[in-house]
Amino acid sequence: MECDILVIGAGVLGFSSAYHMKKRDPSKRIVVVDKQGGPGQGNSAKSEGGFRNIFTSSTNYLLADCSIDAFKHMEEEMGHDVKLEFIGYLWLFSQRQYDAIRPAVEAIVNRGDGVRVLTLEEVKKTIPCLVPEFGEDEEAELLGVEDVAVGVYGEKCGGLDADALVRAYEEEFVKLGGEIMYNTEATRLMLKPVEELGLPGEPFVWQDTVVVGAETSKGEILAEKTVVAAGVWAQRLLDPLGLDSFQRPKKRQIFAFKDQKLEPFFKMEGLNEEGVMPLTILPKANILFRPELSEGSIWLGCADDIGRRFELEEDPQPEEDYYTNNIYHVLVKYFPCFEDVRPMNMWAGQYAINSLDETPVLYEAPGICYVGAASGSGIMKADSLGRILDALVAGEPEAELFGGRMFRVADLGVRHRHVEHEEFVI
Ligand SMILES: Cc1cc2nc3c(=O)[nH]c(=O)nc-3n(C[C@H](O)[C@H](O)[C@H](O)COP(=O)(O)OP(=O)(O)OC[C@H]3O[C@@H](n4cnc5c(N)ncnc54)[C@H](O)[C@@H]3O)c2cc1C
Repeated sequence: MECDILVIGAGVLGFSSAYHMKKRDPSKRIVVVDKQGGPGQGNSAKSEGGFRNIFTSSTNYLLADCSIDAFKHMEEEMGHDVKLEFIGYLWLFSQRQYDAIRPAVEAIVNRGDGVRVLTLEEVKKTIPCLVPEFGEDEEAELLGVEDVAVGVYGEKCGGLDADALVRAYEEEFVKLGGEIMYNTEATRLMLKPVEELGLPGEPFVWQDTVVVGAETSKGEILAEKTVVAAGVWAQRLLDPLGLDSFQRPKKRQIFAFKDQKLEPFFKMEGLNEEGVMPLTILPKANILFRPELSEGSIWLGCADDIGRRFELEEDPQPEEDYYTNNIYHVLVKYFPCFEDVRPMNMWAGQYAINSLDETPVLYEAPGICYVGAASGSGIMKADSLGRILDALVAGEPEAELFGGRMFRVADLGVRHRHVEHEEFVI
């Protein structure tokens, strides 16, 4: 089989890229393949679905801010119900933590994009079910749980249905004539000499080489350009070529709760129009949770870092004792309403972590483009990354993001990479 562009990976990045490329030139034959039986079944649909424009790095800010506008457009103008809920993000900090990042927070606030700092009194008033201070509590001391001193609240933030988002891109891609092959695994990228001589052992080191497609479980697919958007599995395809995905897989889990005790989170005035708890990040252990409004549940995750090994798994499983023995004790200190509440559902996936600068990577080599290393924010940056990938494939130095802001494609590349350190990582 032959096509113009082969996209490996039907996750949010594969489909956003495929859609933007097809939109640029509907006459191009673009084929998306995925080893799974449907869209987003890798990590996209396992996501918490959080989105935010609170980033210290202006690159991350731009990628997310324009994508959020694009998602709003998809919902309001294109008729896709991606369940965009602007419930806000609330980052809770101890005084010690806040002092360390105060200049970065001030820079974010000065951008003037609906980010504000809440004093302890304001936090207490808006979130009455939070215990912000622990006095002489010995258990709190043992856990190293610090008093809350400050909240950083962002209003252009919230939650969406990641599965619906992937399906929305899939639908738009198909509408334009895009082709999809599920249950199709790319087993090897095919490298050929640019000038084939027909000699055994080609390509030789002295020959210029190019990727000409992939061998798959359904046969060879030849392509002018192959886009690797295979998420945490990308390195398996890139290794034989000596190319780097600049990301390592790390397990992340979501625990879902539905319990009367958690009702206070759905009745909270003062921060957002929905009158609910924002997506909230605790000052300890990178624990975060948000109300999921369509099913009236709470989705909770933890971005544990040192001690959680890098490991590529085909189908990672959640660990209930990770919640009961680890997260629970910290969580009930700050929010006693979680006491004795057990998860009704749980699942696990993997972040594709770029631990150098926590920013996505996009580059090309002959015949091939790679997009990935989106760490824990690939959903919220998906529209911008798809547009930048499209510009890369089209050979354009700049991509126009949704709303007209321009982005230098090489900034996310390797050779001329230009990104800033990110303070707000979760
Ligand atoms: C628990 C969890 C919570 C998260 N929370 C958030 C969040 O709140 N906000 C946010 O923005 N991001 C979040 N993320 C991160 C986000 O999910 C990812 O950044 C995003 O899904 C990456 O998209 P992708 O298309 O690169 O990867 P994927 O969705 O994993 O897609 C890659 C696809 O490639 C396919 N594939 C791989 N190898 C092959 C092959 N050889 N042949 C064929 N197909 C192949 C896979 O089957 C998969 O479908 C979270 C992730 C996890 C795990």
